Amino acid sequence: MTSDDFKKSTANLKKAVPLMMKNHVAATPANYAVWYTYVDESNPELNQELDMLVENYGLCPPAAGKELYNNYVADKAETDLTNLRENIEVLVNEVASSMTDTLSDTSSFSQFIDKSFTDLSRVEKEGLSIDEVMGVIRQLVSESREIRNSTDFLNGQLSTATQEISRLKSQLAEVQQDALFDSLSSLYNRRAFDADLFSLCHAEQPMCLILLDIDHFKSFNDNYGHLFGDTVIRALAKRLQTSCREGITAYRFGGEEFALVVPNKSIRIARQFAETLRRGLEKLSIKDRRSGKQIANITASFGVAEFQKGDSVEMLVDRTDALLYEAKQLGRNRVMPL
Ligand code: GH3
Ligand code: MG
Ligand code: MG
Repeated sequence: MTSDDFKKSTANLKKAVPLMMKNHVAATPANYAVWYTYVDESNPELNQELDMLVENYGLCPPAAGKELYNNYVADKAETDLTNLRENIEVLVNEVASSMTDTLSDTSSFSQFIDKSFTDLSRVEKEGLSIDEVMGVIRQLVSESREIRNSTDFLNGQLSTATQEISRLKSQLAEVQQDALFDSLSSLYNRRAFDADLFSLCHAEQPMCLILLDIDHFKSFNDNYGHLFGDTVIRALAKRLQTSCREGITAYRFGGEEFALVVPNKSIRIARQFAETLRRGLEKLSIKDRRSGKQIANITASFGVAEFQKGDSVEMLVDRTDALLYEAKQLGRNRVMPL
């Protein structure tokens, strides 16, 4: 590692940490890696996506952050994720503590320099002997050597850390993918939903939540079989995913229920979005492979609610769910509130 590399990585780390704090990003190794890459500006696509997320959500939702890591930082691998995380944590701690050491060495060094300059100015004013002058200079040289050693040590540590991190990165498991996405629908899963909503509610991010539930889904399973039911879920998820513009994020909430987070929009706009989706679903038609028939009567009911200051995830979800329940009661295939 050259001293320029070293300067750059230290500067990046100094830039990344405050940004992470500002954007409510948890201090995990994966997040460090993402934000380090961001401030390093070495991957324009990552920067573009992250800028877009922050613009829409006022922060980086945890699930999206993990996905950025998977897509732009991590390599495919097979090793156990927990093990990996622990290794990187140890590494980050080591680097951090040797950095602190060097910084404190540097500050005591600069105090020493100040003192040396005062001593040297005495040389002119008071006419110190050549031996006394040599004494001051010798001390200066020995202090500089110490600070150099300690910087070399940090350099070495950082370069080992860099090698080690890239080795660990190349071992990242598909496990992380499973923890984030639902395997049937390929949408973000419930766990991602919980993490994102927690973080968004905590940051009091203006947003609306849409919950939708497929109408009489049990009868699709009963009439055409469970596999056809799965096909319906997949088709609907695909439709949701392609409808997600302007930062809207879709999740499989559970079974035949889905959630959409609409950031920075009024309830009126979110409701309109739900209504457009509802009408789109009415037109969806899926071929049943067994009978060869087109099945067209797929509908869903929607509840839409706006985040209120002080809402917990549970409060927001409950309010939305109550509206979805009303939509069911009123005859299904509709969006509530009216
Ligand atoms: P409602 O209009 O009131 O929502 O009626 P419903 O039949 O959709 O609701 P209900 O809760 O009675 O049934 C939901 C069904 O969804 C029951 C469950 O077996 C089925 N289901 C849940 N997850 C899956 C899945 O992954 N695949 C399939 N094929 N079916 C699923
Ligand atoms: Mg249901
Ligand atoms: Mg249902």
